[in-house]
Amino acid sequence: MADAQCSCGAVTLALPEQSRLVVACHCLDCQRRTGAPFGAGAFYPAEAVAISGAPKEFTRVAASGGKVHNYFCTNCGSTVCWRAENLPTLIGVAVGALADPDCPAPIRSIFEQSKHGWVQIEGTAVQHFRQSSAAKISH
Ligand SMILES: [Zn+2]
Ligand SMILES: [Zn+2]
Repeated sequence: MADAQCSCGAVTLALPEQSRLVVACHCLDCQRRTGAPFGAGAFYPAEAVAISGAPKEFTRVAASGGKVHNYFCTNCGSTVCWRAENLPTLIGVAVGALADPDCPAPIRSIFEQSKHGWVQIEGTAVQHFRQSSAAKISH
């Protein structure tokens, strides 16, 4: 059973237990990647995620300076996951690809310097970051 998939279902991910590290990222790259005002990623141990299908890789240099490898479906174009070179043990999964309204809320909100003014990431446990030091956790 797929735990995350692209729009058309050609690329699927089998995931371990619920992520405990969900991050909202307001960087412009995530805005462009998603077509949405911000990106949200659920991070998992890389070795615990099984990818099925043949996603295409797109590599970019992140705002933090490290490279990020994005994996997207060549049929429907959805990004399903990514790996950041400065986070080699983790894989980020697009929260939208989980299609699970019970996915935990973000615990970190990063690159807020490019956050749309109307976007509010709420919650007492949320850590808000404007600095590039936040990049250590995502990209
Ligand atoms: Zn697809
Ligand atoms: Zn980002």
